[in-house]
Amino acid sequence: MLRWTLAGALLLCAAQAIDFRHHLYEDLVRALFNVQNECPYVTRIYSIGRSAEGRHLYVLEFSDNPGVHEPLEPEFKYVGNMHGNEVLGRELLIQFSQFLCEEYRAGSQRITQLIHDTRIHILPSMNPDGYEVAARQGPEFNGYLTGRGNSREVDLNRNFPDLNALMYYHEKTDGANHHLPLPDNWEEQVEPETLAVIKWMQNYNFVLSANLHGGAVVANYPFDKSRDPRMRGKTTYSAAPDDKIFKKLAQTYSYAHSWMHKGWNCGDYFDEGITNGASWYSLSKGMQDFNYLYTNCFEITLELSCNKFPPASALQKEWIGNREALVSYLEQIHHGIKGMVYDDNNNPISNAEISVSGIHHDITSGADGDYFRLLLPGTYTVTASRQGYLPSTSTVTVGPAEAILLHFYLKPAPKDANLNRNLHNKKDHHSGRTPLRNLGPR
Ligand SMILES: [Zn+2]
Repeated sequence: MLRWTLAGALLLCAAQAIDFRHHLYEDLVRALFNVQNECPYVTRIYSIGRSAEGRHLYVLEFSDNPGVHEPLEPEFKYVGNMHGNEVLGRELLIQFSQFLCEEYRAGSQRITQLIHDTRIHILPSMNPDGYEVAARQGPEFNGYLTGRGNSREVDLNRNFPDLNALMYYHEKTDGANHHLPLPDNWEEQVEPETLAVIKWMQNYNFVLSANLHGGAVVANYPFDKSRDPRMRGKTTYSAAPDDKIFKKLAQTYSYAHSWMHKGWNCGDYFDEGITNGASWYSLSKGMQDFNYLYTNCFEITLELSCNKFPPASALQKEWIGNREALVSYLEQIHHGIKGMVYDDNNNPISNAEISVSGIHHDITSGADGDYFRLLLPGTYTVTASRQGYLPSTSTVTVGPAEAILLHFYLKPAPKDANLNRNLHNKKDHHSGRTPLRNLGPR
């Protein structure tokens, strides 16, 4: 009996004490399954595929209905450890998972509402193979490169199909500004980890995302790739059509972070702790721009520590510094407008284009006919259109609070209607393996 009590007390302590340490792959998996065990009704674990060496890329999902997309409930993702030697994001996302579960169990109103209104996907490590290589060296000896790439030494943040060049060309020719086509045979041109993440993006209608790195402290937003090829090597601001929103998203993180917004970090200065990617240094085939150009998802890149592999003793301070920022950033998914697109008979219409006048970037409705359009406060003219239907336009005023509901009902187009569609040029692109060079933190 004494033994049982002691064991019980020890177990309780273990569950409550947050342990700040590094997690090798097996420990990471165990930590995720522990959270799933502690919060079984609001979590699910699934794998989006395997790394080159066969490790699972596990995602922990939080939702009031795990495994199900509920119409009008937006999908969010956090991705950590894409560079195997940038390990803080991985540990923060483990802490964050434990935090969400504990707060939910404790009845925190804020976290409960977040879990009820959002489907949250957490991928603590996109590059588990690279991590094992970096961890073998440990915090003190880790160089700038060891474990950055995957096991084939490919930099995963230079491994996505390059859609920027096509987008920049389309800007001059009035071509498509969203959901750009992938190059032929793209699946053979990317690494297994990249392939898994792209398929993940195809299967979930993500709205907002952040990708966690290290080596600097700054919130970096699209575009990463410079617009003018002649200017490569120099710094030029490359604004996305949603530049103002991206800036606001980056500010949300930097100001909710304990010191990022102060600007001076790691010997660098970034005003307000944010930067446009290309104005820092131009980067091709990154994940952030790909999210925006291929899917409905808005992603920013978070650089979270000067030291890519901080010692375990630094993890608690980092967690305290990032905790509020991780929550606040996630809450941004509930701004702007959202709604359903229906036909005459109230059937949902998927793949309808939602255009906002003045912003040259459309998003589309998901499989259930629901759409989510992040917007800053203001008054907007919004049009929903789909081939075979007459477009429908509404004016809406967005406030600073939660997303405004705006549904669209599309009537079928007369048979001879000549809908002006943008034709995509399919053949512009190649993507291949890029060696490890151009090595900033991102
Ligand atoms: Zn990185």
